[in-house]
Amino acid sequence: MPLNPDQLIRDEIRALSAYHVPDASGYVKLDAMENPYRLPDALRAEIAELAANAEINRYPDAASAKLKARLRSSMDIAEDMDILLGNGSDEIIQILAMAIAKPGATMLGLEPSFVMYKMIAAFTGVNYVGVPLKSDFTLDIDATLAAIEKHQPALIFFAYPNNPTGNLFDEAQLARILDAAPGLVVMDEAYHVFAQKSYLGKLAQYPNLVVMRTLSKLGLAGLRLGFLVGHPAWLVELDKLRLPYNVNVLTQVVAERVLAAVDVLEAQAAEIRKERSRVAQELAAMQSVTVYPSDANFILFRVADADKCFEGLKQQGVLIKNLSRAHPMLANCLRVTVGTPQENTQFLTSLKASI
Ligand code: PMP
Repeated sequence: MPLNPDQLIRDEIRALSAYHVPDASGYVKLDAMENPYRLPDALRAEIAELAANAEINRYPDAASAKLKARLRSSMDIAEDMDILLGNGSDEIIQILAMAIAKPGATMLGLEPSFVMYKMIAAFTGVNYVGVPLKSDFTLDIDATLAAIEKHQPALIFFAYPNNPTGNLFDEAQLARILDAAPGLVVMDEAYHVFAQKSYLGKLAQYPNLVVMRTLSKLGLAGLRLGFLVGHPAWLVELDKLRLPYNVNVLTQVVAERVLAAVDVLEAQAAEIRKERSRVAQELAAMQSVTVYPSDANFILFRVADADKCFEGLKQQGVLIKNLSRAHPMLANCLRVTVGTPQENTQFLTSLKASI
């Protein structure tokens, strides 16, 4: 008898839709929170040389020792904290979920937030509890504390700043949650360079806190490198779930070199922050547009008809993200990544024509 996937594949996997990545070729690409700038020519030439000499016939350094040392110095990571590297921070989310996936274990997240938390809970057989944010996308502290009390989550994710809403959560409220959490709390600081607020300095104070970062938004999305910083006692266990050689040779040498010039990426991020203010102001000046405050490299905004705007922008060659059906609280919401000044102007002009 032919084997039917329905008989074999877990129900919760069959119920999922794959993470959708649209084809962006030919578009002004403002849909995925990438840094729009290339590296300076001299640095690119050095990278070419490093790639040419990299021993791609050998497995990479399994411990990524040089890259970790570079991360430690360029990101100011304390000597008494460990670093775990992932093939993007997505892989680290998966490692965290696998680690706590005892029968009946729960992951808690906020809604709306980064969709991979919930998806990875399904991948790993972990229960997922999503606590709605308030309508202005701030934390509902009472509901969050009540859900923690009720569900006793082994793992809690905060995107700080949050994707797709762009805001940072209130520090005093997060402190109450950190005190109440019965499990591990992950501060996902993917957009740190645009917010410049961090929990790295609070690791010593909270034994149940770990901080996750990525180089993706900083300008190295194509390399796929995420990292987790935390107390050695946690990271020793998590490292057992990391597949051998998960960070490839080219990523190790290139990331190490570019991080030695991290000021170049930070200067690009400063440009993006400036442009974020301009785009937000221009959006706010448009009739029938509601703009949400952002500490990230993207802006969430609400229009009267998101599908019409999204399609109108696409027809004019600009690709952003339509979140209208991603969550009921995001009805008629769109998210634009901040690009170069020219790209942003093109976006704003095209939006005015589509609204
Ligand atoms: N966390 C958040 C909040 C994100 O928005 C993203 C990317 N959209 C990630 C993690 C994953 O990033 P990466 O896998 O590229 O490191």
